[in-house]
Amino acid sequence: MKNREIIELANEGKVPSREQLIQLLSTFTEEDREYAASLARAKSKETFGNAVYTRGLIEFSNYCKNNCLYCGIRAGNKEAQRYRLNKEEILDCCEQGYKMGYRTFVMQGGEDPFFTDEMFVDIVSTIRKLYPDCAITLSLGERSRESYQKLFDAGANRYLLRHESISPCHYAMLHPSSMSWERRMQCLRDLKEIGFQTGCGCMVGSPGQTVENLADELLFYKEFNPQMVGMGPFLPHHATPFKDEKAGSVEMSLMMLSMTRLLLPKVLLPSTTALGTAEQGGRNRGILAGANVIMPNLSPLKQRSKYLLYDNKTGLGEDASEQLVLIEELLNSIGYHSVVARGDYQGVN
Ligand code: SAH
Repeated sequence: MKNREIIELANEGKVPSREQLIQLLSTFTEEDREYAASLARAKSKETFGNAVYTRGLIEFSNYCKNNCLYCGIRAGNKEAQRYRLNKEEILDCCEQGYKMGYRTFVMQGGEDPFFTDEMFVDIVSTIRKLYPDCAITLSLGERSRESYQKLFDAGANRYLLRHESISPCHYAMLHPSSMSWERRMQCLRDLKEIGFQTGCGCMVGSPGQTVENLADELLFYKEFNPQMVGMGPFLPHHATPFKDEKAGSVEMSLMMLSMTRLLLPKVLLPSTTALGTAEQGGRNRGILAGANVIMPNLSPLKQRSKYLLYDNKTGLGEDASEQLVLIEELLNSIGYHSVVARGDYQGVN
């Protein structure tokens, strides 16, 4: 079967076979990629029109107990200047963000043991009380089911936890042996069962990743049916074991975004900061490949340059409102615009 026909299968709501996906991902041409992007873009427009949802990202701590081999804020990176925001600082970010029109706040951080369940519950329920019309998204890493339940009961709506790889063997190449693929996948199932709009995902082009892995990612998304999928290119960080590894390909990242959109028409799909860092204009290319979410940074400027998962991260210099203006201009330049809306998942689960 021709690559175009494989793309069309997905566009018609059918699931290509593993072999077909492997063929597509290992042989696609620039024309194939553009074809997939045009269908994915049309698919995205059916649900979202030309509107892009913005999420205010609050990177509340770069302390982390884990030692993921790819990540710049891994515990073992002694160069990293550590910081954590206190409750007031987090609430300041929300206040500022609300005024700018954000209706989703995303709290993301390293796995920082300083924050207990009680502290997170306190922060989440305060945000819930102050901003009843906003969605609260958490990205706090792996926690117990009980902890996730408490956070949900406190008013959190969504949770992002990339599984990083659908292959246990590849997962083990990216993480120390103290981390477990099984546990991570269990977390995802727990989150979804509890009722969170749940986001899984992976880096594209992380060391050791094969096209077979990527094909399996797509098949997993179809099966798990998450409300969100987070995917961006792997980018090396100079103070990690992967410092000399090659960055993931932008073209492959775009193809993965488009295929994800075709397979999951309603999924909330961010065009990531990593994509914008890998290539100037990368985030626009993500939108044109079928993504429908952008997550600008609301973290205080003085801390922002310390939340470095990879080198050369984009968007460190502008304050939150400048950044929003720039993003709006970029979106307008390709015929899109951002909206003031919670932007909940609109599919069936
Ligand atoms: N501690 C939280 C948040 C992690 S940071 C958690 O475990 O979910 C969010 C995502 O950034 C990670 O899931 C990972 O996929 C991505 N990331 C980390 N290092 C990266 C790198 N070097 N290049 C690209 N993406 C990276």
